[in-house]
Amino acid sequence: MKIERAEVIVTSPDRNFVTLKLTTDDGLTGLGDATLNGRELSVASYLSDHVVPLLINRDAHRIEDTWQFLYRSAYWRRGPVTMAAIAAVDVALWDIKAKAAGMPLYQLLGGASRNGILAYGHASGATTEGLFDSIRSHQEQGYRAIRVQTGVPGLNAIYGVAANRTTEGNKGKRYDYEPAQRAALPAEEDWDTRSYLRHLPTVFEAVRGEFGPELPLLHDGHHRMTPIQAAKLGKALEPYDLFWLEDCTPAENQEALRLVRQHTTTPLAIGEIFNTVWDYQTLIREQLIDYVRSAVTHTGGITQLKKILEFAAQYQIKSGIHGPTDISPVGMAAALHLDLAIHNFGIQEYMKHGEKTNATFQQTFTFDDGYLHPGDQPGIGVELDLDEAGKYPYQTAYLPFNRLADGTVHDW
Ligand SMILES: [Mg+2]
Repeated sequence: MKIERAEVIVTSPDRNFVTLKLTTDDGLTGLGDATLNGRELSVASYLSDHVVPLLINRDAHRIEDTWQFLYRSAYWRRGPVTMAAIAAVDVALWDIKAKAAGMPLYQLLGGASRNGILAYGHASGATTEGLFDSIRSHQEQGYRAIRVQTGVPGLNAIYGVAANRTTEGNKGKRYDYEPAQRAALPAEEDWDTRSYLRHLPTVFEAVRGEFGPELPLLHDGHHRMTPIQAAKLGKALEPYDLFWLEDCTPAENQEALRLVRQHTTTPLAIGEIFNTVWDYQTLIREQLIDYVRSAVTHTGGITQLKKILEFAAQYQIKSGIHGPTDISPVGMAAALHLDLAIHNFGIQEYMKHGEKTNATFQQTFTFDDGYLHPGDQPGIGVELDLDEAGKYPYQTAYLPFNRLADGTVHDW
């Protein structure tokens, strides 16, 4: 079974997505997500200019060999652009193999290890009342685990807090948090770590007071703290029994987590911007984290993320696969097949996509009573409607960045 055609589709239904579609000489098709938020066109070019010509006439069944060929023959390895491109090829080939086998992908990965995939949603509020409303609304939608992000007094705009739309026609309508904004330049936000460290424990105290001790609560520090600040926060949050504290320090420095770990029993999750197993080597071997946050889309696909998670399993570290709306339905479906099959599943991040995205990417995965399931259609269970995709050309959009009060650029 040979790869006959490879197309790179860039579409922007509610946001930008890059998708690779492979077609075999048997007429089977496979999809892979190659979306890199804010740098989408660089992956599209990497695929169109350098990968697509290499794929034509290759054996579609040789997934591991194709992965190793694309990784090693580039010579310059790793990095988010390369690994997102490899991920797209990898997932598209798994989709084809599962369709050829007439099975949902999770069956080829070892079969289901559980009945459903526990998901967490993103609740947020600029104020405590707004946050409580958002938590209640997520519970009404079925979520059984909730990420809590909140405004900080004195700061204007902050990561993870949904705002009300201000554009004509949508004024005042609340939207699920989407930080990438369609504009020529990244938006500027402000940040003050000391205010944040003072305020956040009071928010978790209020949330526990309102919603009780059972509800699993998560929080994302979004790489903004130094190791000693993160240690202080982890310690301060211990009475509120977090499911995890995510990305507490900038992810590049694995050794930083040693210091955090020495000071707190709050579980730690990290890795959404990692792209290979080497980013986790110290973290996993020294048991400095509790959850692996990588996305299938940014970590070289199913083939590599499965290996990272098997490595993590030897150290009782679990999965927490990245799943905000900048992971397309194709990347989300791939994650769900992996979640269902692996033994060391922890939790899956899940934000619902918008109506235009759902019309463009037809999906079989379901969210019911707090649990996701990839469905039982052969393959990964997502098809791309090219007519719909064609209606929404790429639009320039960037994630924001931060400045401190004195104007210094800070981690966002
Ligand atoms: Mg995060």
